Amino acid sequence: MKIMKFGGTSVGKPERMHQVAQLITKDDEQKIVVLSALSGTTNALVGIGDALSKNDKEAAKQQIEKLQAHYNNFIKELVKQPASLEKAKAIIAEHFEFLNIILKISFNEALNKDILAQGELLSTKLFCVYLEEQGIAHHLLPALDFMSIDSNDEPQIGSIKVKLAQILKQHATTPLFVTQGYICRNARGEVDNLKRGGSDYSASLIAAAATATACEIWTDIDGMHNNDPRVVKKTLPIEQLSFDEAAELAYFGAKILHPASIWPAQHYNIPVKLLNTMQPDAKGTLIVEEAATKGVKAIAAKDGIIAIKVKSSRMLLAYGFLRKIFEVFEKYRTPIDMITTSEVAVSLTIDSNMHLAEILKELEPFGTVEAEDNQAIISIVGNELATTENLLSRLFDALKPVPVRMVSYGGSPHNVSILIPADQKTTTLQLLNKGLFNLD
Ligand code: ADP
Ligand code: ASP
Ligand code: MG
Repeated sequence: MKIMKFGGTSVGKPERMHQVAQLITKDDEQKIVVLSALSGTTNALVGIGDALSKNDKEAAKQQIEKLQAHYNNFIKELVKQPASLEKAKAIIAEHFEFLNIILKISFNEALNKDILAQGELLSTKLFCVYLEEQGIAHHLLPALDFMSIDSNDEPQIGSIKVKLAQILKQHATTPLFVTQGYICRNARGEVDNLKRGGSDYSASLIAAAATATACEIWTDIDGMHNNDPRVVKKTLPIEQLSFDEAAELAYFGAKILHPASIWPAQHYNIPVKLLNTMQPDAKGTLIVEEAATKGVKAIAAKDGIIAIKVKSSRMLLAYGFLRKIFEVFEKYRTPIDMITTSEVAVSLTIDSNMHLAEILKELEPFGTVEAEDNQAIISIVGNELATTENLLSRLFDALKPVPVRMVSYGGSPHNVSILIPADQKTTTLQLLNKGLFNLD
């Protein structure tokens, strides 16, 4: 069993969906194909939810109409036969009727999750109409029947495994399954999701649950690049990464992978391949247990970081101080990304302001507390970085013009992280591209 996940741009145009159908029928291995929503759809659904949360029903209605028109055009190019077109029209009508009903009832967060789920429901159903028209045998697996998260929003891998195995057993001879990425059920049984970009996470979870031979993530670029191609002009694809390296890059901002998408595949030792739908013959990136080479592989940046500093002379020669500080973050379920300490101060970073006010208030008794937002973490990721010759001197040479605020080195053999003001991100990524990779 192989998992093949196709992202928004890979299914965003009718001709791309046609190409996806070709890619998934190239060999005879049984597959689960995981699809995202068509590109732009989830953003549009977020917009509709936002308008409804502000009770702006007129704006929501207009956005729904615009999105529906997009789908009505999409299917004209997707399928040819009148019977297929009728089926596709009925699917669109059903899902947009649902959105229009939501317009009439009072809005809440659970309904918002229902709205967000429409993109993946539409893309998979429309794709299946095309497969049927082409005579490609397949079965649509509703993700809401097996994908679930617990009350801490963590995927329930045990239950996913059992449920998926039961469903697959009922269709043992089916060569091809199609399912939705991103969407799941929560602990209350409601429709929920794995957060933005979550289809990668779905694919990795399904790969783990089905003990797949490989988890292929098909996207619009030929693999993980050494730097962020949205920010830096010249970047190059990396042939092989270890799970640890890929996990660090995903967590620290490489958008090509959802931040949590590596651990399920890593836990079950399933190779992950990053491939380009638009250039299927390009090598892409293979992610396996072992790193291919030593040294720096890539740089990633994570925005929206808040730096918090607690300064207290009571920390001097004291023990238990850090525990008390960490307990505050634990209480508000807020992960800490970076930390540095001196004898009288501790600085750390978080990426969410959801409980910032409460956290700052509870830290106050420990000393002087300062918080600064609009920061960015730049992560330099690779293998055996501590023994990589001249790494630190090259790094700090390149960073000379940048006001570096924190440095984290030695926490993992795969990562050196620095904290900088977010407005220095582009310059920093460019300087490091030159300093570490000799690329302009
Ligand atoms: P999909 O819709 O297929 O999930 P995404 O837009 O989520 O695609 O991810 C692919 C995009 O990630 C690329 O188009 C690229 O702009 C961006 N990206 C950011 N950092 C990297 C990186 N280090 N390597 C490759 N792509 C990256
Ligand atoms: N459609 C969802 C999003 O845009 C999930 C995904 O594409 O991975 O975030
Ligand atoms: Mg993505």
